[in-house]
Amino acid sequence: MITLEEARSLVFASLKVLAPVRRPLANAIGLVAASTIVATEPAPSFTNSAMDGFALRAHDVATSPTRLRIVDVVLAGQSSPIVVGAGEATRIMTGAPLPAGADSVCAREDATVDADGRHVTIERIVPLGDCVRRAGEDLTIGQTLVRPGDVVSAALLGALAAQGVTTVDVRPAPRVGVLSTGNELVDWSAPLGPGQIRDSNRPTLLAALRQSGLEPIDLGAVRDSPTALREAFDGARAHCDAVISTGGVSAGDADYVKVVLGELFAPSARSMQVAIRPGKPFTFAYDESTGTPFFGLAGNPVSTLVGFELFVRPALRFLAGRRDLERATMSMVLDCDLVRQRDGKIHLVHGVCRIHDDGLVHVERLARRGSHLLYAIADANCLVIAPDGDGFVTGDTVRAMVLDDGAMNAVTASGRR
Ligand code: AMP
Ligand code: MG
Repeated sequence: MITLEEARSLVFASLKVLAPVRRPLANAIGLVAASTIVATEPAPSFTNSAMDGFALRAHDVATSPTRLRIVDVVLAGQSSPIVVGAGEATRIMTGAPLPAGADSVCAREDATVDADGRHVTIERIVPLGDCVRRAGEDLTIGQTLVRPGDVVSAALLGALAAQGVTTVDVRPAPRVGVLSTGNELVDWSAPLGPGQIRDSNRPTLLAALRQSGLEPIDLGAVRDSPTALREAFDGARAHCDAVISTGGVSAGDADYVKVVLGELFAPSARSMQVAIRPGKPFTFAYDESTGTPFFGLAGNPVSTLVGFELFVRPALRFLAGRRDLERATMSMVLDCDLVRQRDGKIHLVHGVCRIHDDGLVHVERLARRGSHLLYAIADANCLVIAPDGDGFVTGDTVRAMVLDDGAMNAVTASGRR
């Protein structure tokens, strides 16, 4: 057996970040920037009003109230040719350019306009520059907007759009092939014959990939035949940035995945017994010619998902150029016992966690354990990492990986859960 950390180091040692591609800005959301972008325009690009109100000279309204003459009105999208002089103001709307001569804005609610609309009484002292958005306040020309490694967020995408940027160099979302293996598998819509089961790993992984912003490719189910597996893996490396298979990596008579990956990708291929439960058997291989990593996960459905979280998801994020590879892991209070025996392995136990009124995150419940019990983990939102030992009792603190942070909130928009 090797440790979880050793297994993970083995995986990460061979990975390379995907080559950059140029993408239309709108398609770059969630991707990692591969080059530097600098601002070519100031933002805001011109000094403008932050409020609907009156553009004026602060000097004129150093006492209050003060009556000013209205000389123009400026709407957003317009500009005024007028120079605001002493004792004058223009009506101005949010986003409209500040007219020459004016240096401050008084919000509409702090002013009273005469019945004839020609004068306005400013009801308060207006500090210099009040309610004015200065050109270049957010960005100046030449300022670095994007550095390689930055993730394109919605706000960054908008800031780039505001600069007139139309394309960006990004690392593509990895295209990840998923294939399941096993003579017992039938497709989801098919009736079951004796000893057959419906393939659940493939839809699970395809969905998990999609949820993680990756691009899944369904490579189908493959029979437990070395020839069929060889063909499937060989074909996948050309058009997949990574390949995940499930099943066929343990000690069974028909477990050919590890054999075939070993043949195809020696010397990189490694069949491991990782000191974790579930998910102990794991095969990793790396195709030097295409740079495609192959993840041979254990076939039991819960083992598959644990392997995905511990090995595959962080590795795929690495390929995508992410610097934040791991899910958040944090201390949580156990509201139940976690029973386990010493066996030299880290146990990974799905659970349901919530933020309680004490401000701490509690693991309220642990899922029934069994690597075949897929439905038992359907509502889990964390994975408790139980180091080798005699387990934990209620009130103990454990470390757990957060699988769904939104589901940690005890209070929802519709009230308490
Ligand atoms: P294996 O690792 O191939 O020995 O499979 C271990 C267990 O997982 C067996 O009970 C398989 O039937 C089951 N299994 C393997 N692949 C799948 C799959 N794609 N969907 C559901 N169960 C599977
Ligand atoms: Mg099998």
